[in-house]
Amino acid sequence: RVANFPFIKGIEDFDFSFQPSINKQQIMDLMSLRFLEGNENILFVGTPGVGKTHLATAIGIECAKRRYSTYFIHFQELIAQLKKALLENRLEYRLKHFSKYKVLIIDEIGYLPIDNDGANLFFQLISSRYEKSSTIITTNVVFSEWGEIFGGATIANAILDRLLHHSYVIFIKGPSYRLQSKTVYFSNT
Ligand code: ADP
Ligand code: MG
Repeated sequence: RVANFPFIKGIEDFDFSFQPSINKQQIMDLMSLRFLEGNENILFVGTPGVGKTHLATAIGIECAKRRYSTYFIHFQELIAQLKKALLENRLEYRLKHFSKYKVLIIDEIGYLPIDNDGANLFFQLISSRYEKSSTIITTNVVFSEWGEIFGGATIANAILDRLLHHSYVIFIKGPSYRLQSKTVYFSNT
C-alpha cells in the first residue's frame, strides 16, 4: 500500500454533517498543507470511531499526492521497530530513517501503555523530528492522562512539549461512525 495507509479515503469521503464538533474550515485549511512549511504538527484527539484515522489519512494522502515523503504507522508498531533496532545496535540508523519523512502519521497513541524503554525511544523519535518535519498523531487519550501511557508525567510532558509547541490540535467530540447504524441493546440480567 502507498505510504502504508490503512485505507484510501480522502476528505471527499468524510461526512462533516455527521460530526458537527469538527470545524470543516479548519480541516480544509490543513488540507492546503501550509502546516508543512512551518514543520507544524497535527494532533487528533477523541474517542474511538469519531474519524481521527480517516482525517489523518486524508491529509496524509494529500501530502503523498503532492510528493512529500509520507508514512503511516501504528504507534505500537513504531515502538516495536525502535526496540528491535535498539537491541540490534541500529537505533541511530532507524531514528534517521523515521526522521527523514516529511510527514509521519502515528496512529492510536494510548490504546496500550508502553514501558520505559518504549517511552524513551518515542521521546528520541519526537525530538529528532522536532522543528524539522511534521508529525500527525491520533489518540484516544487526553493529554492530561498521557503520563499513564508513558509511565510518568515527566517523560509524557517532555514528549507533549515538543509535539504541541508548533501544532494544531483537533478535539473531536461526538458519536462513533462505526456504531451509527447499529442498535445496541443492554440487558440487566
Ligand atoms: P477513529 O480513528 O477515530 O477511531 P476512524 O477514522 O477509523 O475512527 O473511523 C472509523 C470508520 O468510520 C472508518 O472506516 C472511517 O472511514 C469511517 N468514518 C468515521 N467518521 C466518518 C465520517 N464523518 N464520514 C464518513 N466516514 C467516517
Ligand atoms: Mg483510529
